[in-house]
Amino acid sequence: MSLHPVWGHEAEREALGNAAAEEILPAALLFHGSHGIGKQRVAHWLAQLIVCEAPLCEPCGACPPCRMALSFEHPDIHYYLPLPRPKGASGDRLTEALEEARLTELEDLRTTPLRPSHRDEVRGIYLGTVRNIRSQAHKRPAMSHGPIFIIGEAELLVPQEASPEAANALLKLLEEPPGEARFILTSSQPERLLPTIRSRAVPLRLTPLNLGDITAFLEQEAGVEPSLAEWAGRLGQGSPGRALGFLPAGEEEGPLERLRLRAFDIVATAMSTDSSATYSLALGFPPAGARGLIDLFGFVEEWLRDLAALAAGAPKALLNHDRLSELEEWLSTSQIKAFHVTSAFGSVDQARELARRNVNPQLIISSLVGNLRKALRGHSQRGVIT
Ligand SMILES: [Zn+2]
Repeated sequence: MSLHPVWGHEAEREALGNAAAEEILPAALLFHGSHGIGKQRVAHWLAQLIVCEAPLCEPCGACPPCRMALSFEHPDIHYYLPLPRPKGASGDRLTEALEEARLTELEDLRTTPLRPSHRDEVRGIYLGTVRNIRSQAHKRPAMSHGPIFIIGEAELLVPQEASPEAANALLKLLEEPPGEARFILTSSQPERLLPTIRSRAVPLRLTPLNLGDITAFLEQEAGVEPSLAEWAGRLGQGSPGRALGFLPAGEEEGPLERLRLRAFDIVATAMSTDSSATYSLALGFPPAGARGLIDLFGFVEEWLRDLAALAAGAPKALLNHDRLSELEEWLSTSQIKAFHVTSAFGSVDQARELARRNVNPQLIISSLVGNLRKALRGHSQRGVIT
């Protein structure tokens, strides 16, 4: 298996292709834009263009370096992405374990290159990984002018805000790249990168794909039938990696569809007048692992946003267009106004902050539902957990 063709981002690729042809491509680039939009795919495209033997603003796709790049096998293209922290390893052993985990991940990518952009487990780019990058960067390249490092989700370089060593070690490499080493960082949250790293890399923003491109991508690359492709494409909001997350995985719902429905239950429980439902909903959550709730809260905000759009008389702006009738029913049986929904967003912010502080998830959920209920009914008072 090899990487699928790049979809969209034509203007950005043209700019990069021209810069490469004129040999003015910066040594460190930062691709940013929404999660799953194709930043890492464009980074691989650029790396392939740089190693291609016959580039014409596009990689030729046929020469041996191109073919190796497309199957993650080019010896001078080094792909790093956040990984779960290997258990029970430290020091040099951790550095080795991270490299083994990375090679396993690349092997998985070769067999299943199309994956949703969402993952349930916590991942990071640890100091051990940056040590591996540093030693690679000082080695002589195997067949190109210099090594190319693609570092995906670079904001996860600092998974623990209190230990910025990994980011600082990378910063040293970006400040003085050895030889002709190149770095392409990608991030959907560039504001979370250290300012010193941001300032070393030339930023390029990738924009959302249009619905037609995403639907065509799902049909042609993932073999999805047209009506399902259109449904997931709309929910993808311009991001093919996000759209993939809504597709069913075997018998089960896709990981993002699962979160979307769970978020729906949270808002539905807040809309119901039966407050005992809050506790049974909260007890359905595990008693630990609050950081895993953060993505869920993004979906709660999307349902609220849809409620506000409907309350303001703008049904065309709905994200969850497939649930229009339920949303309309909520509005017709309550007296929700758009400004009630606006104040409900504050409750979600509060819940997200508690999740970052790793408070018990069941407490966070019951507090969130209670606060949403008050906000949506026009009571501004909020319960506070400290
Ligand atoms: Zn080529």
